[in-house]
Amino acid sequence: MSDAPVEESILDLLIIGGGASGMAAAIAFQKYYSEVTGKKAQVLILEKNDRVGKKILASGNGRCNLSNQDMKINHFHSQNRSFPQEVLDRITPTFVLSFLENLGIPTVNEGPKIFPMSKTSSSVVDAFRFALDDYEIHVEYDTSVAKIQREEKSFRVICADSACYLARFVIVACGGACAPTLGTTGDGYRWLHDLGHKVYAPKPSIVQLVTDNSVTKALSGLKLDADVSLSSNDMLLAHQYGEVLFTDYGLSGPAVLQISGVVSRYTVKKQLTVPMTISLKLFDEMELQKIREEIGKRISLFGQRTLDQLLLGILPAKIGNMLLKTALQRPLSILISTLSNEDIEKIVRTLKAWKFTVLGTKSLEHAQTTIGGADTSEFSFETMQSNLVPGLYACGEVLDVDGDCGGYNLTWAFSSGILAGRSVAIEAGSQDAD
Ligand SMILES: Cc1cc2nc3c(=O)[nH]c(=O)nc-3n(C[C@H](O)[C@H](O)[C@H](O)COP(=O)(O)OP(=O)(O)OC[C@H]3O[C@@H](n4cnc5c(N)ncnc54)[C@H](O)[C@@H]3O)c2cc1C
Repeated sequence: MSDAPVEESILDLLIIGGGASGMAAAIAFQKYYSEVTGKKAQVLILEKNDRVGKKILASGNGRCNLSNQDMKINHFHSQNRSFPQEVLDRITPTFVLSFLENLGIPTVNEGPKIFPMSKTSSSVVDAFRFALDDYEIHVEYDTSVAKIQREEKSFRVICADSACYLARFVIVACGGACAPTLGTTGDGYRWLHDLGHKVYAPKPSIVQLVTDNSVTKALSGLKLDADVSLSSNDMLLAHQYGEVLFTDYGLSGPAVLQISGVVSRYTVKKQLTVPMTISLKLFDEMELQKIREEIGKRISLFGQRTLDQLLLGILPAKIGNMLLKTALQRPLSILISTLSNEDIEKIVRTLKAWKFTVLGTKSLEHAQTTIGGADTSEFSFETMQSNLVPGLYACGEVLDVDGDCGGYNLTWAFSSGILAGRSVAIEAGSQDAD
């Protein structure tokens, strides 16, 4: 037997994470690399789960809201505000949709939201899986990366089971720190920090709000449409119209999830830095005037009835009664005839602004996206390459970019993933053509 050291084979590209951004990066890489060089490269995805795209599967309640017609940049957030715009200028949301269509994922609009035509997330994951096969991209499942080491001409990626891979280029696409049951436990923050990158502490977004819950608990499971305002000391911080769900711990539902990121941004070490209130406006001004008159009428018509019948036909009974208790602080057994003009105004004021004190958000475990992550000012928006570690790239949620609810986070993952993959292809292709 020879004593000569065994040459370790070096992959062209190793991608950590087989989620939305990692799979998009892998496919874009192989596509552009073969266009540049006329041959396929050696590319491998390491995925912690036993399958790719688990978070895509969970997205949009299994329907995968993958983009939005309203792509204004204020739907994306980062400490480095121009970074998402610069990336989305290079790989535009329209380009992302045509990339998806080429994978066999045509889309349809539902209002401003964009879904796969099948309206099923599993078909999106399947289309990606088949494309990975077509492009000869191998995935190593149940493989959790533990460490990335920079070596002279390559990277050494070491896994939790001690398996070790060498690669010329590495793309970190391991997602953020929310919904850890889907595989994303913030591992990338540690590797990037160890390689010299600044990482902003992760916080939950698109998440339920914890409020004083004496009312919400009693109404748990009930929903209504409302104008939701988040304010601090009478300063309006965020506003959203939509469905609100009462829960044991506070408030949820699309309108609340949408503004939850603002609460997170005012939270340090799980403590709010300013007092916050949520107000629910249940009716517009014209309707409120009508209700004021209707209550006046009911006082004379149904004065002998008890208070629990006052808002019949105006609000669902349970919600109406809880609102009356909050507004008047009196038992529901009193007679409607005992209500004064001041009482009517108290009821109308509560219909206009039903207030709940915000105590914080639910944790990252419950969130749909992560605020914070690797500082994007240390990455090139032209290529997604690290400015500190040549050959290292990152994309998706591991970076400090988060989007609103409505298809923005998947758009960010796909767009930044395609840009990273294409950039590595151009760099590797030009080296290999020399
Ligand atoms: C319940 C839910 C619903 C959502 N719905 C929508 C929606 O409708 N529209 C929308 O735009 N966004 C939605 N999102 C957000 C969106 O899914 C994510 O922002 C997006 O998937 C992020 O893409 P990514 O590639 O950065 O990370 P991910 O898609 O999370 O992929 C990261 C991958 O890396 C793997 N990984 C992590 N650590 C390691 C490791 N150490 N070693 C190897 N692999 C690792 C993970 O297992 C995972 O597969 C939703 C999120 C959740 C949780």
